[in-house]
Order: sequence, then C-alpha cells, then structure tokens
Amino acid sequence: RGGTATRAIPFAQPGSLTRVYGVASGKGGVGKSSVTVNLAASMARSGLSVGVLDADIYGHSIPRMLGVNRPPTQVEKMIMPPQAHGVKVISTGMFTRGNQPVTWRGPMLHRALEQFLSDVFWGDLDVLLLDLPPGTGDIAISLAQLVPSSELLVVTTPQLAATEVAERAGTVAVQTRQNVVGVIENMAWLPCPHCDGRVDVFGSGGGMAVAERLSRVLGHEVPLLAQVPIDVRLREGGDNGVPLAISDPDSEAGKILRGVAERL
Ligand code: ADP
Repeated sequence: RGGTATRAIPFAQPGSLTRVYGVASGKGGVGKSSVTVNLAASMARSGLSVGVLDADIYGHSIPRMLGVNRPPTQVEKMIMPPQAHGVKVISTGMFTRGNQPVTWRGPMLHRALEQFLSDVFWGDLDVLLLDLPPGTGDIAISLAQLVPSSELLVVTTPQLAATEVAERAGTVAVQTRQNVVGVIENMAWLPCPHCDGRVDVFGSGGGMAVAERLSRVLGHEVPLLAQVPIDVRLREGGDNGVPLAISDPDSEAGKILRGVAERL
C-alpha cells in the first residue's frame, strides 16, 4: 500500500474487451453496494467473468455482502483476489486491520485505485464493477483518468433529497467525458404484505427525474434502467453474504436486477 503501481492497467489498453462500470450515488445508504453485488452475482451466474472492486474506501461493505472472508494472497507481486459466487473481489477493507477506520487522503486513494486496477490479477474479465464512494468525489475522477473508457451507473432512491445529489454525481461525467449507462431507482416501493398494493416509502419519481436531467445535461439518452422494490430478503442477503440474485433469482427484486445485469 502506498507504493506505485508496477504494471500498466489492462482495462485501459487499446483493445481491452472488459466493460468497466463505476457504480455511483449521491448519498450513502441508497443501496449502491447492494445493487453492485447483485448485478455482479447475477452476471457471474449467467457465465460472465466478473470482478468487483470496492472503492468505497470509507464505507466498504462489499466483502460482507458477498460473503468473502479470505484475504487476498500474493503471487509474484500480483494480488490474487478471493472469489465468492463466481465473482472476484478486492476491497480496501482487505488491506486494513480489523475494523479500523480508513483515513487515506486523496492522493493515496488515487494510488490505491491505480494499484487495484493494475496489480490485482483479474484475468480476462468480461465486466468490472467498481463500487464508488457516495458523492462527487475524487475517486470518480480518478477512475475516469485511469480507465477513460469506463462508464457510470447511477443509483438513487425515489426521494428528492437523494435525487439532487445523484444528479450532481452523474454530472461529473460531463467533466470526465464518461458515458452514463443509466439510472437505477432502488427502494422504489414496499410491496404491501397484506394486499397487492405498494407503499411509496421514499416517495416516487426520483429515478425518472434523475434520468431525464442527466439526459439533458449530458446530451445523450440516459435511461431509467430499473426500479427495484424494498425487499427484506435483499437486506438479509447483504447481511449474510448471499445476494438475493443468487438465493432467489426469481423473486421480484431478483428478476429486476437480473434484467439490468442482462442489459449491461
Ligand atoms: P450504499 O452502498 O448506497 O451505502 P447499501 O447497499 O449499503 O447502500 O444499502 C444500505 C442498507 O439498505 C443496507 O442495509 C442494505 O441491505 C439495505 N438495502 C439496500 N437496498 C435494499 C432494498 N431494495 N430492499 C431492502 N433493503 C435494502
């Protein structure tokens, strides 16, 4: 940690076939990491070679959500990522002791990201998903610099307070000239346990509002890819390391997330 990368970033080489997606949100707690692990697990289940890079330095939760408890190993200066549900995983959390808070500063974060991209033995990936820290932070800009062909996925809830910051997170793409592949509205509704009704716990319309606004600002169509309901088992799956997309791919939320995974 802290050294300089020893190799070129394979995903930034001309002819790289790996699709690289940064998963961004404005606020924390909107389900960015949950969406990331479910998309990754779903893609791996359908036979793709998938990696997840947990770049949410201050709130790393990916290893728990995927049930990864083995540390990475090292082979000839390359970091070998542990695997779970067919997904290769690297997280800043794997390089800190215990549950110590991370206090890395901007330049160190940039170097850490660079090393994770270049010194981890990812192999031939079809897709690399990066769980970015919430907000319009340095890491999103670093990703664009390190992998110019990377694209962004924006996760929001339907709530206005979340959409305003989500828009700002998305408009970083104007500055970095990245493509935004779409918006995912998470926690879109709570299915009523007693009837067929839906409870709009966090209001409604936020996902579409973000998609329309980003389309205008970026000058290309940014679709609302999906609306994912609140599902207790999605939360439980995150807590016990088995994503819903694996434990029950035919649940409503599981099917919706699978649909997004197929479109990416
Ligand atoms: P973020 O990465 O944006 O901070 P998380 O993915 O950690 O958000 O989600 C925050 C909390 O909400 C977690 O406890 C997670 O299990 C839960 N959660 C996320 N999406 C859903 C959902 N659709 N239904 C139920 N719980 C959810």
